[in-house]
Amino acid sequence: MRVGIIGAGIMGLSLAQRLSARGLRVTVFERESQAGGLATYHDYGPFCWDRFYHVILSSDTYLIEYLNEIGLGDRLRWNAGRSGLYAKGQFYSVTTTMDLLRLPLLGCMEKLRLARAVLACNRIRDWRELETVPVDEWLIRMCGRATYEAFWKPLLLAKLGAQYKRVSAVFIWSYITRLFSTRDSSTQRNQLGYVAGGYRTVIDRLESLLQAAGGTIRLNTPVQAIEPASHAGMLIKTDGMQEHFDKVIWTGPIDAGSPLAKQGLVSIAASGGPIEYLGVICPVLVTRRALLPYYTLNLADAEVPFTGVIGMSSLVSTEETAGYYLTYFPKYVPSDDPEFQLADETITQRFFLGARRLFPDLQTSDVVGLHLNRALKVQALQVLNYSTRVPQVTTRHQDFFVLNTSQFVNSTLNNNAVIRAVNEFVREHHGSFTSDTDHAAPALLTGSRT
Ligand SMILES: Cc1cc2nc3c(=O)[nH]c(=O)nc-3n(C[C@H](O)[C@H](O)[C@H](O)COP(=O)(O)OP(=O)(O)OC[C@H]3O[C@@H](n4cnc5c(N)ncnc54)[C@H](O)[C@@H]3O)c2cc1C
Repeated sequence: MRVGIIGAGIMGLSLAQRLSARGLRVTVFERESQAGGLATYHDYGPFCWDRFYHVILSSDTYLIEYLNEIGLGDRLRWNAGRSGLYAKGQFYSVTTTMDLLRLPLLGCMEKLRLARAVLACNRIRDWRELETVPVDEWLIRMCGRATYEAFWKPLLLAKLGAQYKRVSAVFIWSYITRLFSTRDSSTQRNQLGYVAGGYRTVIDRLESLLQAAGGTIRLNTPVQAIEPASHAGMLIKTDGMQEHFDKVIWTGPIDAGSPLAKQGLVSIAASGGPIEYLGVICPVLVTRRALLPYYTLNLADAEVPFTGVIGMSSLVSTEETAGYYLTYFPKYVPSDDPEFQLADETITQRFFLGARRLFPDLQTSDVVGLHLNRALKVQALQVLNYSTRVPQVTTRHQDFFVLNTSQFVNSTLNNNAVIRAVNEFVREHHGSFTSDTDHAAPALLTGSRT
C-alpha cells in the first residue's frame, strides 16, 4: 500500500515512521526546504538549535516513550527549570512555593487565593465546564484582580499575546495541570528536558528511520491539490506532477486557502466559523554572556515589544551552543496581524529598545547575532466553546484523512499531544492501513502450523 503524507512536521514524520515500520510505502511531501515544521532547526552561525524554543516535561510520557522507541532515550537531558517574572523594573523568581510566598507584589490573602486557584485547577477533571468562561474572568474570580494583574496576566500574554482575552479558562487549566504534573515534590521545581542536539536530532532520526524502511521525503514540494482518483485512492498534485496513493493523510493547518478546502475534500462541521490561528514573531539573541537565570520570564511591562522571554541557556548546556547563550523573545499575534508584514529592520529596532529596557547593561559587544524567526500559523486560538468549533473533519473520501493540531481541544500545543494523537490515529485506523505483508501474514502462519 502506498501512503502519501502532507507535512514533514513532527506529526507527519512520526506518522510516516510508524506506518513505514509496518511495511507501508510512505512518501512525505513538505513545501519547505527542511523537515521539522515548527520544531525545525536554525543555523545560528556557530551552532544549530531549534528555530523556536522547545522543552520536554517529565510528564510528557507519550513523547518520552516515543523517543526511547526510536533510540533517543539516552540523548535526553534533564534540568531543574526556573521561572521568573519582570514587573515594576525588577526580576522576581516564581519557581518554588517559597518564591511565591516571598513575592512582594502580592499580599498574604492574594497568595492564598493564588494557591487555591492552582489546587482547584488540579482537581478539575471535566474541562468542559471551563469552556464557556473567559480565562481572565475565571482567574479574577478565583484569585482577585490584583493577583490576576501581577501574576496571571503576564503569563497569559507570554503564552498567547493580546488575544488571551478571547480564550477560555480551559487554557489555564491545561497549562497548570501539564506544568504541575511535572513538578518534583522534593525540590518544588519542574523538571525540564531536551534532546542533546535539539529537535534536529529527532528530525534526523525520523528521516533516517523512514528512509531505511523504504520511505521518501520530498522537500521543496508544496502540495497544490488532492483529488480522488477515478477508481480508488487519491491523486496528489505538485507543480505539474501528479501521483497516485492508496491513502493520503493531511497534517498541515486547515484554512480556506488550503488545497483541502478548495477541493471540497473535507466537510468542516463546526458551529462557530473558521479556525483562527495565532502566529509568532520571535527575535532570538545569541550572546557572549547569560542574560537571565530563568527558562521562562513573564513580563508585566506594556512597554516591552515582546510578550515573554525564554532563556534557553538556563536549561541547555552551553556545550550545545558553542559556549554562547541563546535567548528567545516571542510575541504571539493573530496570523492576519499587520505586524507580520513589518520589515525586519523595524522589528529589530523595536526589539533592541525593549531588550535594553529589560537588560540595561546589555552591550553591543555582548551580542554575537540576532535572528528573526516568524511563523504565521502556530496554534489554533482556543476561543470560548472551542470544542464545538473545532473542525470535525469528516473527510468525504474513504482514502483521505486529516490529523492536525487544530483538533486538540483540551491541551496546549505540544509534541506530547502530537505523539499521543499519532498513536491514537494509528490504532484507530489500523484496518485501513494494511501492508502487503499484513495480508500475507495469515497464510504464512497457517503454512508454518501445517
Ligand atoms: C514558539 C513555539 C514554541 C513551542 N514550544 C514547545 C515546547 O516547549 N514543547 C513542545 O512540546 N512543543 C512546543 N511547540 C509546539 C511544537 O513545535 C508543535 O507541537 C509541533 O511542531 C507541531 O507539529 P505538526 O507536525 O503538527 O505541525 P507543523 O510543525 O506546523 O508541520 C506542518 C508541516 O506541513 C507543511 N505543509 C503545510 N501545508 C503544506 C502543503 N500544501 N504542502 C506541503 N507541505 C505543507 C508545513 O510546511 C509544515 O512543515 C512550540 C511551537 C512554537 C511555534
